[in-house]
Amino acid sequence: MGRAFGYVILGGGVAAGYAALEFVRHLDGGGASPGELCIISDEAVAPYERPALSKGYLLPRGAARLPGFHTCAGANDELLTEQWYKDHGIELVLGTRVVSADVRRKTLLTITGETISYKTLIVATGARALKLDEFGVHGSGAANMCYLRSLEDADKMVGVMRSCHGGNAVVIGGGYIGMECAAALVANEIKVTMVFPGKHCMDRFFTPKIAEFYENYYAAKGVTFIKGARVTSFEALSDGKVAAAILRDGRRLPADMVVVGIGARANTALFDGQLAMEKGGIRVNGRMQTSDAAVYAVGDVAAFPVALLGGDVRRFEHVDCARRTARRAVAAILEPADGAAEVGKNDSDYLPFFYSRVFALSWQFYGDNVGEPVHFGDFSPPGAGGRPKFGACWVSDGLVAGVFLEGGSQEENEAVASAVRCGARIGDLAAELESRGLALPGQE
Ligand code: FAD
Ligand code: NDP
Repeated sequence: MGRAFGYVILGGGVAAGYAALEFVRHLDGGGASPGELCIISDEAVAPYERPALSKGYLLPRGAARLPGFHTCAGANDELLTEQWYKDHGIELVLGTRVVSADVRRKTLLTITGETISYKTLIVATGARALKLDEFGVHGSGAANMCYLRSLEDADKMVGVMRSCHGGNAVVIGGGYIGMECAAALVANEIKVTMVFPGKHCMDRFFTPKIAEFYENYYAAKGVTFIKGARVTSFEALSDGKVAAAILRDGRRLPADMVVVGIGARANTALFDGQLAMEKGGIRVNGRMQTSDAAVYAVGDVAAFPVALLGGDVRRFEHVDCARRTARRAVAAILEPADGAAEVGKNDSDYLPFFYSRVFALSWQFYGDNVGEPVHFGDFSPPGAGGRPKFGACWVSDGLVAGVFLEGGSQEENEAVASAVRCGARIGDLAAELESRGLALPGQE
């Protein structure tokens, strides 16, 4: 059995949702005709804003729930419910895993045995959470052990948190998931111990000074940090739960629940040996087109040349990238002669942008963290109700390569983004920041 479509989007996450909206905006009459566009996803629900899972979704009160955060709510754009796809003639094939792809024949085989063929394919398979088992530590299936990638994972975590009120959680990993989930656990009145191998939290990104601020802030909320440490096993209970995490040095951390965030890997396996790969993802050109002209890749899975970084090929696991690369691919497919659709042709060039929100804190980062970091602002702990404001500029050859800003207003964030985008000299950014009361040390 089989079906054929003009365009198929493989994956039903953030990038798929933004690509669908872009398609509709490009299509005559604002909708697809039968057999024109299909989205295949192994998730049970229409594309949603994944960042909500570690923030609003985990709140003890007033939690975010679908349909409120389907794409493209995160960009304050249309809310793409299942009905929206129906109304726009888009075939949404949910709860269906694609188990193999044949790029030469232009076909996908689903777990139900259906062959879906395409003229043009957009790969939007995202990334998966790494499992501890991949590092020889077993117990990931325990009823009180949580990973966080999908809505299903988030539902499990909400249930486990409810059963652990007042108890102890061990959070493994000091990256994005670890930091955001630790904050959510505290909000749910669960005591948190964070364990990670690095010298400080977010150690591939934060400077020691930035990390110190957040660790002190978390410590003031009752979070304990065990740094430079690894969990090597779990103590199991007979009811399918773990009771404690055991560290390499033999320490035992009692645990009513465990949250694991030890990194992600792009879902490229369907295309191994069929498409060119780079940086752990599918290599695409400035139009998000892979080494096969009929296949495009977007979001976490795509490694693309970033003009603002000198054409370096990079892969980002961040939502802004998923949104922009999705729109870019659709524009490139439907307006092949439009040079503006290429990454690197105009000022809509991709500027790397990451952010996080935890407790009452909110940071944004633009650019690349290469060169020397220069810190600015006040890193002292905020008083009750006070909002900290500080940051760091990464300076390379006198030019601003990247800026991190905690507590910036929208206007301030836009100002630093534009300074990074135009490759401002550090002196110019210093003057800009100083006019906003954020002096850079040693800059006249
Ligand atoms: P995804 O959104 O992961 O979507 C991939 C889709 O493909 C999924 O539906 C998946 O089930 C499906 N799929 C994969 N393989 C198959 C297959 N074989 N068959 C069928 N379907 C398949 N970024 C930020 O910038 N800021 C944040 O605050 C932030 N918070 C986050 C919080 C959490 C909990 C997580 C997990 C990520 C967060 N991110 C954040 C990262 C951001 O969500 C991702 O960069 C973004 O979701 C990538 O979009 P994508 O469409 O490429 O992949
Ligand atoms: P990260 O890469 O951010 O962090 C992984 C953490 O786990 C690091 O502290 C790392 O230490 C540690 N680690 C790595 N291997 C092991 C191991 N074997 N045992 C114990 N610890 C280990 O990944 P996350 O899991 O936090 O995030 C997963 C994905 O979700 C990413 O794509 C991320 O971008 C995305 N995400 C983004 C958010 C945002 O942008 N605000 C929010 C939430 C998720 P070390 O660095 O020292 O190796």
